[in-house]
Amino acid sequence: MRTVAKGQTVTVSEIFGPVIQGEGGVIGRPTVFVRTGGCDYRCSFCDSLFAVLPEHRGSWRKMGTEEIFGEVRRLSPEPILVTLSGGNPALQPLGDLIRRGRERGYTFAIETQGTVSKPWFAELDHLTISPKPPSSKMETDWEKLDLCVAAGGTGTEVILKVVVMDDVDYVYAREVAARYPGVPMYLQVGNDNPPGAAPDDATEPDVSGLLDRYAWLAEKVVADRWNGVTVLPQLHVLVYGNRRGV
Ligand code: SF4
Repeated sequence: MRTVAKGQTVTVSEIFGPVIQGEGGVIGRPTVFVRTGGCDYRCSFCDSLFAVLPEHRGSWRKMGTEEIFGEVRRLSPEPILVTLSGGNPALQPLGDLIRRGRERGYTFAIETQGTVSKPWFAELDHLTISPKPPSSKMETDWEKLDLCVAAGGTGTEVILKVVVMDDVDYVYAREVAARYPGVPMYLQVGNDNPPGAAPDDATEPDVSGLLDRYAWLAEKVVADRWNGVTVLPQLHVLVYGNRRGV
């Protein structure tokens, strides 16, 4: 019998979709996003500040599992991949949502920076750990990252994804890959013109700059003969721009 902690609520910034997942190991898949509110990081290139900064708490909602799953089912009555994003979704009690959804055929992915590990990571279908490179201005706690990378269950696909803005980030990505040799590694070019925190701060992405950086990164990987890595664009930015809720 499932144990549900009474009164446990999740802080939600927004629930939207279905859209095409633009990042990581499930890139290109239709998905509904559950974006939680609150983050233990403040990355320089964050494109979701409305889900990070405490001054936006007023737009976040405390929701129970039933309410969240009801909204997911309203958006997609047929089972679909649900992406738990943020902010840092690992700060929230999401295990019951995952269990409830999986019982009805939904699958679950999380994107988290690898600072907080939770037992319910083992119940995910996809665990994307995205440690932040030096250009984020955040420091990696390698021991906490170790715990997150090891937290997947037998049915969990664990992958690492690193945003690369420049050569220093690239060296960091190689360090991450060397530390976890058995874990699939994705590189993703960064968007250095992300939106601000307010809803009307939807900046236009520098698409040609993003594509130039993608070409630079692809050439670097090939020249280095780093053959086990996957290099991705920010597909969602190319398709949807910097708009929110897509
Ligand atoms: S970890 Fe993600 S959500 Fe948090 S500040 Fe960094 S980019 Fe933004």
